[in-house]
Amino acid sequence: MMIQKKIYEGKAKTIFSGPQKGTLIQYFKDDATAFNAKKFQILKGKGEINNLISEYLMKVLSENGIPTHLIKKISDREQLIYACKIVPLEVVIRNIAAGSICKRLGIKEGLVFSEPIIEFYYKDDQLNDPIVNENHIVSFKWSNNRELFKIKEISLKVNKILSHIFEDISISLIDFKLEFGRKFSDNSLIVADEISPDSCRLSDIN
Ligand code: ADP
Ligand code: MG
Repeated sequence: MMIQKKIYEGKAKTIFSGPQKGTLIQYFKDDATAFNAKKFQILKGKGEINNLISEYLMKVLSENGIPTHLIKKISDREQLIYACKIVPLEVVIRNIAAGSICKRLGIKEGLVFSEPIIEFYYKDDQLNDPIVNENHIVSFKWSNNRELFKIKEISLKVNKILSHIFEDISISLIDFKLEFGRKFSDNSLIVADEISPDSCRLSDIN
């Protein structure tokens, strides 16, 4: 039996050490949280479904030339991934108004944006992941201008790809969240974490 060392217990996943240097195992739990874990529920089978969906979407991204952390799915709830240094930002891409942006800016839900809106949130549970702008990000060295440019470029590309995938099954991608990591080898960006109904707001077109 392989000994896995628990490295991090998150809200939706647990991260274990991987079999080779530079790899990790991402275990998908059934825990569902919202509003920074103020709302909590166990949804039986969610972990398996998110593992499947995230594997599928990450594979499509890499087929389209976007590097991701996924190496392979290794069980119903586990993925082998490349370890990376997570950029401490939640990158949210919005196509249609919903959720916090409506409250914050007094916008009507359902408004279709003329072009996708990218927002950055600083990943810090204690601070409730506050929204930040590029000046904050550069000033506090969470990223730099060059990397941010790349993050925005990849995010818009991912948005196009995901929007098409969902459109094909009559689902509209309202908004979604990405996390990026830096590869330890050369600091280049890869899409990390997960892309699943936990990180996407989806609605039935019909
Ligand atoms: P959280 O409660 O912090 O959102 P999750 O339950 O989402 O945690 O568990 C995943 C954690 O692992 C997140 O903190 C995420 O940033 C991190 N992570 C995701 N992919 C990678 C990776 N490839 N390398 C290192 N850390 C990762
Ligand atoms: Mg998370």
